[in-house]
Amino acid sequence: MITRSPIDVQTTPLQDPVSPGTRKPAWQRQLAGAIRDPRVLCERLRLSDAWLPGAETGHALFEIRVPEAYLARIRPGDPHDPLLRQVLPLNAEMHQSPGYTLDPLNEATHTPRRGLIHKYHGRVLLIASPTCAVNCRYCFRRHFPYAENAPSRAQWQDTLDYLRKDTSIREAILSGGDPLAANDRQLAWLVEQLGAISHFKRLRIHTRLPVVIPDRVDPKLLGWLGRTRLQKVVVLHINHPNEVDNAVIKACTRLKEAGATLLNQSVLLHGINDSAPVLIALSERLFEAGILPYYLHVLDPVQGAAHFDVSDEEARGLMEALRERLPGFLMPRLVREVPGKSAKTPL
Ligand SMILES: *Cc1c(COP(=O)(O)O)cnc(C)c1O
Ligand code: SF4
Repeated sequence: MITRSPIDVQTTPLQDPVSPGTRKPAWQRQLAGAIRDPRVLCERLRLSDAWLPGAETGHALFEIRVPEAYLARIRPGDPHDPLLRQVLPLNAEMHQSPGYTLDPLNEATHTPRRGLIHKYHGRVLLIASPTCAVNCRYCFRRHFPYAENAPSRAQWQDTLDYLRKDTSIREAILSGGDPLAANDRQLAWLVEQLGAISHFKRLRIHTRLPVVIPDRVDPKLLGWLGRTRLQKVVVLHINHPNEVDNAVIKACTRLKEAGATLLNQSVLLHGINDSAPVLIALSERLFEAGILPYYLHVLDPVQGAAHFDVSDEEARGLMEALRERLPGFLMPRLVREVPGKSAKTPL
């Protein structure tokens, strides 16, 4: 089941009575049915028992979550599959590495209201849902105190008041967790509130859901997205070309038809996409789906993820190799998030 999202806790001004027997939307059923058991994950992918102890240990730190639609893109029997490596915990997660911390971005100090992160000029990040449809092992929010950041109804009003008063804000970024893990009634309400703030121009949604459960892009979502007067940007999170199958391409087409500009951010991950051919194929594949590469992030030093690290030198070398092969508009910007800086830092 989906845990309660921050919006769940508070707002239900638009709640319609749900008649008994009403079926949940397909995407919610798929989310509820996601694999959350290390043994099931290993069995389904025909991995040897050698992988199980690491999976169980990592699962205890940050639970496994893999929807079927994503699992279907993983090659069974291949422990090095680049999609599997993003979701399968390894023993290496137990290693404590110097410099790797619980809150690498120091976000705890930039939350003027619960569920609101205001670090950059003109943009605010709203934690619209504490959960994700997939749990990525390298996630910099793997230790984020979501429960503490789940605002009550009164606190959401307080957040909206903050946004109404600060006329320098142009853009609301829905983030999480994954904001699209919240239900459409909640999102429709929130987006309507944001659209009513006259100094707001843009709505940005940072999400991995259309990638891991493409059925998330359904008529309800397209309804509230299409209705808002705000300009819309959807920033997807795709790390490897194998993540983009035909269902993902169709979901992207629907988002574009609703008026959204599609961008992608990736994380540079050792053993997954730290090779020029993979990154080139990723950019090409993204564009086939109507998505432009935006950021390529170096790993945030979050405890438990050091085994994914790629050195700055290697990262720069990869960018050079990409520049020799790709048109400029298919080049992602290689960046790092440095706590205290007023923007992402180019490498
Ligand atoms: C990354 C980020 C943004 C958005 O930055 P852009 O460079 O505009 O994509 C906004 N707020 C926070 C807290 C962020 O981490
Ligand atoms: S979808 Fe994003 S926020 Fe969620 S676990 Fe993956 S990287 Fe983290």
